[in-house]
Formats: sequence, structure tokens, C-alpha cells
Amino acid sequence: MAALKPGVISGKDYQTLLQACKDGKYALPAVNITSTNTLNAVLEAAAKNQSDVIIQLSNGGAQFFAGKGLEDGDKAKVLGAVSAAQHVHLMAKHYGVCVVLHTDHANKKLIPWVEGMLDYGEQFYKEKGVPLFTSHMVDLSEEELDFNISECRRLLERMAKIDMSIEIELGVTGGEEDGVGSDEIDNDKLYTQPEDVLKAYDVLKEVGHASIAASFGNVHGVYKPGNVKLRPEILKNSQELVQQTHGTKANPLDLVFHGGSGSEKDKIAESLNYGVFKMNIDTDTQFAFAEGVGTYVLENERAFKHQIDPDNGTPYKKQYDPRVWLREGEKSMISRLDEAFTDLRAAGKSLTLPESQRKVA
Ligand SMILES: [Zn+2]
Repeated sequence: MAALKPGVISGKDYQTLLQACKDGKYALPAVNITSTNTLNAVLEAAAKNQSDVIIQLSNGGAQFFAGKGLEDGDKAKVLGAVSAAQHVHLMAKHYGVCVVLHTDHANKKLIPWVEGMLDYGEQFYKEKGVPLFTSHMVDLSEEELDFNISECRRLLERMAKIDMSIEIELGVTGGEEDGVGSDEIDNDKLYTQPEDVLKAYDVLKEVGHASIAASFGNVHGVYKPGNVKLRPEILKNSQELVQQTHGTKANPLDLVFHGGSGSEKDKIAESLNYGVFKMNIDTDTQFAFAEGVGTYVLENERAFKHQIDPDNGTPYKKQYDPRVWLREGEKSMISRLDEAFTDLRAAGKSLTLPESQRKVA
């Protein structure tokens, strides 16, 4: 397979990349960003690990990117996402890796957010011939299955025209309320039904490209071990049903692993055998950033209280300069991402590398 050009990728190149992931049984970390600090840290980590990467924004992350002071929050969610995407389009190619640009969970209430971004995306496509985002997620897993599928189809019709993909969710990714500390965790909704996946696959493949976040006991956030039972074989069942029904090759579905933070490493590894090409990571990188900043602040406490030390006259400008302590956050986040690239077996496999130079195992 020929090398891809570094920068934001979409359409056919995106599908080439996720096929390479599935064939090579590795996945890309999809990292939620909220600022240029976190965004640049992801680009730096990807370059350092010679891996392609997925950068994504939640609606709240996008709003934060635009600025919490902007009065119209709905507008800020659209503008912040667009602003971050433009930054990535400008910068990504200089880091030498492929970047997939994506937005995270949009439930029914947030469909106008997706449509707002599509307005900008269509304009961008008109001007540049490529989409602003590679894909958007539309998560209607709380709604009836038929509505979930038909609404995603409606939005995908619009996205496909500008070479975009959609990510949908079937089954519910658990969270603080849905699972942990409760016996309810083992209910059907936390484990996606293969029949539902087949139905969605059949409807959406007529329109364009869709990836699927399927639930196999995964939850958002980090919880004490033992509370959540990951069952990656659920993914295998869905793959096999689609494969048998349509006579496709193995792992026809492009699957996404939500709630990757804090997951057992062997279950992560197992899911890579069943067509998972993307694993979301947010909680762990949030903590890593905070830990880096926190350690620095605690070690330099007086510099965060006084510009000049009142006792001995020491000037603290070199310590309180935001570039210094924000960089500590970036560095710590990059170390956590080193671990993710390794866990997902993505390091050294960027499709920007000539095939002979890509890591194999
Ligand atoms: Zn999620």
C-alpha cells in the first residue's frame, strides 16, 4: 500500500487507514482535546510515536475551545469545533502524520450542533475540495433503534456528499449512572445485539461510510477494577453475523471502542482482533495533563503566590510563565499517550511512512 500524505485525511484515505488498522490488528487513539495545549500535545505524541491519530472534540470541549465567555453556548460549540479543525488543517501536515478529525457524542438534543458544523463543512468543501471534519458521531443510542438508524441515515446523506463518514452508537456505553456500583450493569443495553448491528449496517452502507460504537460492557470514566466486565467477544458476534449474511471477508464492520480509559489491557488487546480501529481516550489524558501541571505547581508553590518572593526577593517569572507549567501538562499528557500508542499497537505504523519502514508486529 502506497504511503499517504501527512495532514488531515478523509474519504477514501480514511477508509484506507482504518482498513490498515483492521488488517494489522492495531487501533488509533482518539483523543478528546479542549485547547491548543491538548491538541498540540496529541500531534506531538503522534509524531513522536510515528503513528496516525484521531483528534476529537466533545460539544463541551468545542465550547471551551471557543471560550467559556461567549454568551451563546450553542454557537460556541459550533465555532469552537470549527476553530480547532482549522488549526489542525494548518498544523497537522507539519507533524508528519495522518490525522482523522472527528467530533464526539451528539445525542438528539445536539443534532443542531452537528448540522451547524455541517454548514461550515459544506462551505469548506466548496472552497477546498475536502471536508473540514473526517467524521461526526451521532449517538442516538438512547432512542428507539429505528429512529436511531433513520436519523443517522438522514445525516449521513448530507455528510457523504462532502466525503465525510459518520460514527453511530448501538447499545449504551455505561457511565457513572448506568453501571458502576450497581447490579444493573449486566443488562442487554450494555451489550450491543448483533441483529441491531446488521440492521444499521444494511441501511447505512447504501448511503455512505459508517463506523459503529458497539457496547461490550465499556463505560466512560475510570472505575475501580472488577465493577465492569468487558466482553469483547460481543464484537466478534456482530462481525460474524454481518460476514455470514453478506458473504464479506472477515471483520466487515469498522468498530469503535468508547470508554477506553482504565480498561484492562488484555481486553483492549483482544478487541483489536475483532475490527476495532479506534479507541477513545479522555479521562486518562485529562488526569495526565492535570498531574503534570499539579506536580509542577506543588513543587514551585511560592511562584504561584508571589511575583517576587517577599522574604528573599527572588523573582519567579520563569516559574509562573504559563508556557512553563502548561508545557508540564503537555509533557505528561504525551507520556500517557506513549502508553496508549503502545497498548493499541499503533506506534511506528503511520501510513505516511513508506511501507518498508512501517513496524509490522
Ligand atoms: Zn463515548
